[in-house]
Amino acid sequence: MARYTDAACRLCRREGEKLFLKGQRCYTGKCAIARRSVVPGMHPQGRKKVSEYGSQLREKQKTKRFYGLLEKQFHNTYEKATRLKGKSGENLLILLELRLDNIVYRLGFAASRAEARQLVTHGHFTVNGKKVDIPSYTVKANDEIAVREASRKSTKFQELVNRPVPAWMSFDADALRGTVLRLPAREDVDIEVNETLIVELYSK
Ligand code: SF4
Repeated sequence: MARYTDAACRLCRREGEKLFLKGQRCYTGKCAIARRSVVPGMHPQGRKKVSEYGSQLREKQKTKRFYGLLEKQFHNTYEKATRLKGKSGENLLILLELRLDNIVYRLGFAASRAEARQLVTHGHFTVNGKKVDIPSYTVKANDEIAVREASRKSTKFQELVNRPVPAWMSFDADALRGTVLRLPAREDVDIEVNETLIVELYSK
C-alpha cells in the first residue's frame, strides 16, 4: 500500500497546526509546531490572504493528513460518504473514525496512526474473533476489536498509550479488547475541521 514517507512534521508545519503524526514527540517541547510554526520551503512567507479554493484545499489536506491517507484513499472514502444517508461531510469524518487503524490508535494500542496502521498490517488484531489486517477496514456498532491471542505476549502490548477512550467505545485494558458501543456522531470527532469546505471542493 502506498504511503507518505517524507518528514511528518513538515505536514503539520504546512497546515500550521498539530496533526499528531509522531506519537509521544507531539506532546513534548520537541514538536516542530511548538518550537516554530513556519510553512516549509526555501522562502517561507507569512500567512497570505487565502482564496476560497485555497481554504477548501487546506481543509481537505489537513483532514487527509490527520488520518494518514493518500489522495486516492481519501477520495474513495468521500465517494462512499456521499452514498450514505445524511450530510456527506459528516459521513466522511465518521467513516474515517471507523477505520480499523484509527480505532487501534484511539484505544491506545499505538502512539500514532502510522504505527496503528503497521500493527494492523502485521496481523496483530481481530474483529469479532477473526483476524483482520486491512487498515481501511470499516468497523461497525457492537464490533469487538482485540489483540490476537498470539500477539498478547508481545512487548508492544505490555504498555499501552494512556489516551482517553472516546465515549462511543469501551475498553478493557486487561483483556486488550475494545468494543464499538455505537457509531460516532459529528460531535464525537475531535479534529477541528470545517468538513463543508471539503464537500465544496469535491463538488466542483
Ligand atoms: Fe506534528 Fe507531532 Fe511533528 Fe509536532 S511532533 S509537528 S504534532 S508530527
